[in-house]
Amino acid sequence: MRTQRQVVDYSLQKRALLRDVHNGKVGTLEVCDASPYLKNAARFHGEPTDDRCPVCRRDNLTLVHYIYGDELKQSAGQARKVAELPALAMTLREFQVFVVEVCQSCAWNHLIEQYVLGQDALQADELDQGGAVASSASGRHRETGSSSHRREGRQ
Ligand SMILES: [Zn+2]
Repeated sequence: MRTQRQVVDYSLQKRALLRDVHNGKVGTLEVCDASPYLKNAARFHGEPTDDRCPVCRRDNLTLVHYIYGDELKQSAGQARKVAELPALAMTLREFQVFVVEVCQSCAWNHLIEQYVLGQDALQADELDQGGAVASSASGRHRETGSSSHRREGRQ
């Protein structure tokens, strides 16, 4: 996604945990503990993948995208379909996305990635690239707000 930034990848932690599970150092009950809410989120908002569950190998993993941020108001903390994220990224300045993989068979779950989306990235891009962006077709979408700011009148 165009405005994706501040990506944190948790695949190392996941691999380390799975190693411990396969070694028997960590019990599967401890890691296969997806809550009913998370399982519901996977069922209704999840993104199916072709990856087999690394614990039970019975089912493919589902990715759940949780969104957080002050601008989301009561939607903060909700799961969203990945297809809904670009529209949110175009209407909000900044929000966090947490991606959790879930197995709907054995309830394995793990945070795999987090990142930030939102329009703030576009403004930063435009500043970085200077006039190049302004002269392109997308430059026409620039806000016209600057011309309408109110002067402080003295009375
Ligand atoms: Zn599983």
